Amino acid sequence: MTVRTRIAPSPTGDPHVGTAYVALFNLAFARAHGGQFLLRIEDTDLVRSTPESEQMILDSLRWLGLEWDEGPDVGGPHGPYRQSERGEIYKQHTQVLLDKGHAFRCFCSKERLDTLRAEQMAAQKTPGYDGHCAHLSADEVARRVAAGEPSVVRMKVPRPGCLEGEGAICEIDDLLRGKIEIPWEQVDMQVLMKADGMPTYHLANVVDDHLMQITHVLRGEEWISSAPKHKLLYQYFGWDMPVLCHLPLLRNPDKSKLSKRKNPTSINYYRRMGFLPEAMLNYLGRMGWSMPDEREKFNFADMVANFDLMRVSLGGPVFDVEKLRWLNGQWMRELTPEQFVSRLKDWAFNEAYFAPLVSHIQGRTEVLSDVAPLAAFMVSGLPKLERGQFAHKSLGEEQVVKILQFATWRFEGMRRWGKDELSAEVNALAAAMGLKMRDFLAPVFVAVSGSASSFSVLDAMAVLGSDLTRARLRHAVEILGGVSKKQAKEWEKEYRGLGADTESETEG
Ligand code: GLU
Repeated sequence: MTVRTRIAPSPTGDPHVGTAYVALFNLAFARAHGGQFLLRIEDTDLVRSTPESEQMILDSLRWLGLEWDEGPDVGGPHGPYRQSERGEIYKQHTQVLLDKGHAFRCFCSKERLDTLRAEQMAAQKTPGYDGHCAHLSADEVARRVAAGEPSVVRMKVPRPGCLEGEGAICEIDDLLRGKIEIPWEQVDMQVLMKADGMPTYHLANVVDDHLMQITHVLRGEEWISSAPKHKLLYQYFGWDMPVLCHLPLLRNPDKSKLSKRKNPTSINYYRRMGFLPEAMLNYLGRMGWSMPDEREKFNFADMVANFDLMRVSLGGPVFDVEKLRWLNGQWMRELTPEQFVSRLKDWAFNEAYFAPLVSHIQGRTEVLSDVAPLAAFMVSGLPKLERGQFAHKSLGEEQVVKILQFATWRFEGMRRWGKDELSAEVNALAAAMGLKMRDFLAPVFVAVSGSASSFSVLDAMAVLGSDLTRARLRHAVEILGGVSKKQAKEWEKEYRGLGADTESETEG
């Protein structure tokens, strides 16, 4: 058997370090067994998926040095590798389940489902579908479908009133965790196909893993609760289930789940900050795994040569930016002078990076040596800031922090990051907050450039990119004393109330 693994990101946001971590372990495992690794884009959520996000995910995984044997950009024998292009396949498979009686059409209205949910919550029961449509007669279903009544397709699960005569507990074999027991009553009669004919994650994921001949599914532990549904689907189709292995989730240093509130989570941030891809990959390889000799610095080939999945430890691995910085320093100092120069060039000291800035810098210079002080913040990480720099003639400090916080939220939701888009967003937000553009931009200017006098901050932000810009805004908020949880809650409400939040989702 050839080992085949995959990474299956959903292109709904920034390329997350957690995706890179899971991809790395899948790739290392496949390579250690002489197998193959593929990349599949899970974009069944048409509203939240964007081509920009997909591109960023591919770019950043490649930047890290991760290579896939099959994928949407490289092709392969099991394509298409983008779920939005596999609609027919899912339709056929849904029909198979309906024909075999493993799934049923559900015509319940949103109102009914909402009421049901509210009642279950009030009775402190696990919310879930109650099987209302599980036993409709074939005639009735045919009649209602013919009449054009919208419906979804749900899977049957062992549950009184849905599928009788099955055990109460679902047992999942996990390579690292052994047997995991999940009561069937916690498993919902999952929607497999939505009313618009699009599959949900569960159906598409199982069908694709099977058709793409995946032998081992290594994924984050947040998917454990989905495993019973998947196991059942494999049974219903009569397919062998791949080996499951749920990797421990990355954590913040305080052990909470890694979140962008506490740590930058986008690979783009680390790239823009000037981390080396090999150091990042090395660090991700240390997340729950270690070399047999415990050495901290190793490259991908070392990892593959020594890879043993059973050495993954389940205690939540901490993604600590300070540690990563230290490790990056080890790698930096080992570069040859030629490599060092070439890395600098690739990073920011190149024409493409500076070209958009020239028109802003040139007019302010008399000699070339004026450029560095003017543009230093364009090739820096987080600027050194002091509280006093944010003092403003008409804005109080709380208002300043609010502007920085609201701008951060607004920028988080932007799908396209360019000067025009930034200008439109800033205009809209300033207007919604009842502020003059000039006042609104003043603290943003200081946060981003580290000084009160520089060139256009919108141009600077466009070049710096979303991640570093937002990191600088967050940094400024910290310098100004931060935002308490309570304050953040109130502001979030106010922010939403502004109606400015059309696209963004703030992390809950
Ligand atoms: N699309 C899922 C994700 O975004 C894939 C989960 C899985 O690996 O099954 O992580």
